[in-house]
Amino acid sequence: MTTELIIAPPVTGKTTTCIQRIQAIRTNQPLAQIWVVVPDRLQAAAFRRRLAGSGGAMGTYVGTFGDLYRSILERSGTYVPVASSPLLHRLVQETVDRAVAQGNLPHFAPLQLLPGFILALRESFAELKRSLVYPEQFLDFTGSGSAAQKDLAVLYSRYQARLRELNWADPEGISWLAVAALERKSSTPASIHLLVVDGFDSFNGAQYQALKMLSQQVGDLLITFPGKIGSQRPAHRRFTESIERLIRELSPQITTLDLSPNLPPDLRHIESQLFEAEISAIQTPGQPILLEARSPADEAREALRWIKSLVVRENVPLSGCMMFTPNPTVYHPLLRAIANEFGIPIRCTQHEPLSNSPAITALLNLITLPSRNFKTRYLINVLRSPYFEFSMSPETVDKFEMVSRVAQIVEGRDQWLETWERLAPSSVPEQSDVDDERILPGLLRGSQAFELRQVLDAFFVNINPPDQLRTQTEWITWLEDLLDRLGFYERANSERDQAACEAFRETLRALVLSEAVVGERCGDYRQFLADLQGTLEGVGVREPTLVGQPAVLVGRMVEARGLRFQAVALLGFSEGVFPANEHPDPFLDESLRATLGLEQRLQREQAGLFYQAITRTDQYLLITRPYLSDDGEKWEESTFWKSVQRLFDASVIKTVRPDDPRPLSDAASSQELLFSAIRRRSLPQKYEFLNDRWNGLRHSREVLKARRSKHASGPHEGFVEPIAPALSQRYSPAQTWSASRLEYYGSCPYQFFVRTALGLEPRVLPKLGLDPSQLGSMLHKILEETYKSVTDPKDLQAVLDALMITSEQIFSTAPRIYGFRPSSLWEYEKVQLHDKLEKTVHALGEDSSWTPFAYELVFGIDGVPPLEINLGDETLRIRGVIDRVDRDTNGQLRVVDYKTGSSHLASSDLKDGHRLQFPIYALAVRDALNLGTPVDGIYWKILGAEAGSLKLAKFKTDTAQGVDAAVEVVCEHLLRIVKGIRSAEFPPHSPRDGCPSYCPTAQWCWRFEPEW
Ligand code: SF4
Repeated sequence: MTTELIIAPPVTGKTTTCIQRIQAIRTNQPLAQIWVVVPDRLQAAAFRRRLAGSGGAMGTYVGTFGDLYRSILERSGTYVPVASSPLLHRLVQETVDRAVAQGNLPHFAPLQLLPGFILALRESFAELKRSLVYPEQFLDFTGSGSAAQKDLAVLYSRYQARLRELNWADPEGISWLAVAALERKSSTPASIHLLVVDGFDSFNGAQYQALKMLSQQVGDLLITFPGKIGSQRPAHRRFTESIERLIRELSPQITTLDLSPNLPPDLRHIESQLFEAEISAIQTPGQPILLEARSPADEAREALRWIKSLVVRENVPLSGCMMFTPNPTVYHPLLRAIANEFGIPIRCTQHEPLSNSPAITALLNLITLPSRNFKTRYLINVLRSPYFEFSMSPETVDKFEMVSRVAQIVEGRDQWLETWERLAPSSVPEQSDVDDERILPGLLRGSQAFELRQVLDAFFVNINPPDQLRTQTEWITWLEDLLDRLGFYERANSERDQAACEAFRETLRALVLSEAVVGERCGDYRQFLADLQGTLEGVGVREPTLVGQPAVLVGRMVEARGLRFQAVALLGFSEGVFPANEHPDPFLDESLRATLGLEQRLQREQAGLFYQAITRTDQYLLITRPYLSDDGEKWEESTFWKSVQRLFDASVIKTVRPDDPRPLSDAASSQELLFSAIRRRSLPQKYEFLNDRWNGLRHSREVLKARRSKHASGPHEGFVEPIAPALSQRYSPAQTWSASRLEYYGSCPYQFFVRTALGLEPRVLPKLGLDPSQLGSMLHKILEETYKSVTDPKDLQAVLDALMITSEQIFSTAPRIYGFRPSSLWEYEKVQLHDKLEKTVHALGEDSSWTPFAYELVFGIDGVPPLEINLGDETLRIRGVIDRVDRDTNGQLRVVDYKTGSSHLASSDLKDGHRLQFPIYALAVRDALNLGTPVDGIYWKILGAEAGSLKLAKFKTDTAQGVDAAVEVVCEHLLRIVKGIRSAEFPPHSPRDGCPSYCPTAQWCWRFEPEW
């Protein structure tokens, strides 16, 4: 019965020695029981492979400490079922609930319903158990501690008592039971001839205790450990403390392998000099070891390119390559996407979180809708989700979205109900598109609104959870029925979706089982959701299987031990990533950890981890880092990066910048090859199989060039001659034009194309407050009705009195007429709007020379003939509505156009062709309405209570002045506009004062300039 501890630096043959011992025993005693314990399944598989390669693995059991514990318990005749993760979650939650109900949790009670709290508690319990800290001990330790520590001790003790009561164990509890069995000597480990413990660089409390017991009970115990006896090297500090404890507790016979690590010269140099205060020499590396790229995405790309080049050029097998990252959340999705592009199969050691799955995200969005009070943003997303069958066409969902926007439905079924009640009985006249400030979206009303309401009501009834307390199993049955009704599982049919659905169903099954074990848990829907979401946290999805396929392994930095590869890439060596900035544990602070013998959180031995990581390779090593942070700032190197950098001259670093030219031979995917070829403007003949994509890219290049040029021209910038015949037909001389539509073209031809020719509208989220068209329509109507209702519009007091009455009347019916849902601010908004209208009436009355006499004069609609303008080659027919016409004492006329906005109202806007309405209205007053010849026209800013600077009487060109000059300018623009539309010339052209925010292309137009 001997215990031997083999201590040696990495790559000096520790595992080989273990295998030789095993094979030596096998030669003489083929039936001897031999156990090998390694840190994880990955290492178990690797050890088995090496064992098989050295003469056979038959009869040798290779597993983890967990496997060994279970074997010990079986041998001792103890069977305790291990609780699943959902069951443990439920147990911890129940423990917290009971403690709160009994008033035993004064400090943590407010955190009771937070799912993250339960998860954090589970981690703390597991850590305490791994370190063999028993509840009674912990209660004693914390007796004089903080309120948080006392609460934690109460919960830990109650949790453990409940587990015992149910006769279940958690995974860490198995180690306790195994240690207890060993202490009782009730198992028969003596039949184990040799127990090998290999690949560890530290042990937890339970493992130390188990090893101590086993050293007295198994045949021989052989432990390997990295490092050197009495080493003072900073790189060995992590191992030195463990070695000292092993020697203290096991009194082993010590063997040191005094061999030099079997590594290539550069790696041996790093291994021997890492973190040393004095270094022996600065070397020139055979090739760069440190690679910096712009971002984590570029870094992942370069690391995978390096691996691919080793596989293709150096014949390194895929399974001989490994990548370690400190932050799987950031790096694993990047590596998956880029590996897919490069055609490199990769396998991540950590499962993808279930919450990353699109199908599960859609499902959670659906079932959390009621608890989010049907927030419109989520509601519309759910209705559009491809994962559910709601028997609704996309057009119907568009209508819901439009209603929500117009009616300002932000959330809640009550807001929908209020809107339907407003829309259903009303029949509001259609809005004409004659004034851009008053074009209201065509809301469905009457029976159409009623039909829409029925569809949405059916949806709410379908997905709304019962308003009762139910057991968890009943809630799960309800959820499964809902998902069946919506065809969720049939629609989630990709390989990835199916794996996620299977993991989800497994979680539901485990929740049902937990209720069978622990007892019913009755709660409302909110509680069920919290339980479900808490349980789903931390559940991973297995990657789609790569059966029989070799793959590059991608693991976490903490897994970088024991395994050996031909090529290893280490990612994330910028400041704060690795070594990571540690934060104190909120439950187990540093002093408590020190007292209990737990690993320190703030001085965790990341240096030891790094040392292990760089010594995992036999041949090739690459360390990478991003050099720019997300906000474009320089990102400093990490201390570990610098510790390698200082061992070599400058050639150890390679910096890859996105604009650096790259030889075609370095391309790792056809995309990269084409990208480089485009830069060098030729694709060699040997790649002619890529010709189709090459031609597509050249075309894209032409498009980009056109869009980047200063002046818009050519077919990629709105000059679409092929559709000119169709447009000429659509906008034929028989067409009656809307003045505001013509202005769109005058302002920006591309805006006209998108907005008018294609009829596209911007998609905006509903928000509180009136939209500009609702506000414009309402204010125009109030002013019109006010002036119309007085006998003498010059009697200011009479107008103000009338304003009071009409504004009240129009405000009271506005929600129904204009389709919006008054917010809680509506009363306040009405007062404010009335104040502004009063100011505007005062200001309008200041110029006593003009008296309004005609309002809302339409032409070209409602049976009134259109304005006909003779442009020489054709007569243009135009429709419109004139807000108001004034007359002075001499009988001269003035046109007034109300505006709620205040931009683009200067003379230059008319000259540039952005404002055309005035001269057109002046002509309409004269020619279509036969009221006489206007001598002036003004834009009136309703909210600003002043006129715009463009006044027709003062308008000047080089040759003329006044209305005639304006008409002349407008006619020139009209000719240009009509010709441009029919010739299909729609170049994007940002207006002088910037693009209007309501332009439907503002979100994606490459020539967008913000308005100022
Ligand atoms: S964003 Fe500006 S340039 Fe682009 S279409 Fe609209 S108005 Fe024209």
